[in-house]
Amino acid sequence: MPGGTVSLPQLVDWLSRFSGLVTENRTYLTELDSAIGDADHGANMARGMTAVMEKVGATPAAAVDELFKSVGMTLVTSVGGASGPLYGTFFLRFGTAAGAVTELDGAALGAALRAGLGGVVARGKAEVGDKTMVDAMVPALDAFDAEVTAGADAAAAASAAFSASTMGRDTTEPLVARKGRASYLGDRSAGHLDPGATSTTYLFQALGEALA
Ligand code: ADP
Ligand code: MG
Repeated sequence: MPGGTVSLPQLVDWLSRFSGLVTENRTYLTELDSAIGDADHGANMARGMTAVMEKVGATPAAAVDELFKSVGMTLVTSVGGASGPLYGTFFLRFGTAAGAVTELDGAALGAALRAGLGGVVARGKAEVGDKTMVDAMVPALDAFDAEVTAGADAAAAASAAFSASTMGRDTTEPLVARKGRASYLGDRSAGHLDPGATSTTYLFQALGEALA
């Protein structure tokens, strides 16, 4: 990571690793979604991220905002479930916040991730404790920002974010879902990990690996 910044190719590598992780774990994500949803989260994420990588490969972007606009639009339009528009909005806001640049330092990356979370919350209206992807994203971004504030580089911050996201994912198991399809189950949604919080851990695992 020369000069402590994250380059455009590293951001593409992040997306590629995320695509790989959701594809490798698609059966597991679908199992989680069959317990409290409609058994399509693995298929939704794998299809969406495969479409993203095809698009990114066919039309290489010159700047971070351009890359993530294309990523976000592809997810919003290629995934039928709630997760497509939610992850799509995350990446759209990420790109807008990052701007027409070709690299990001740790603080700028943290700000872009935070803007992405803002998009998820604006669209889905979930709070921490509602048993959604927000339960993994919020602790991840808090850990990322704490590392950057303490002087760590983006790679160390991303690794801390991944670890925090797994703890956030685990908090969803006993919760009763208050948002999304799982909320239709009421109390029966308790006792299962949230699928979207689980795919969010792959987002941060992928980031940590791309920046390492
Ligand atoms: P669908 O629920 O439409 O079948 P997916 O199965 O792909 O879509 O995604 C389900 C995941 O989406 C949930 O596990 C949860 O993490 C996330 N989710 C659903 N609704 C919301 C919401 N309002 N805000 C944030 N995340 C949500
Ligand atoms: Mg589903």
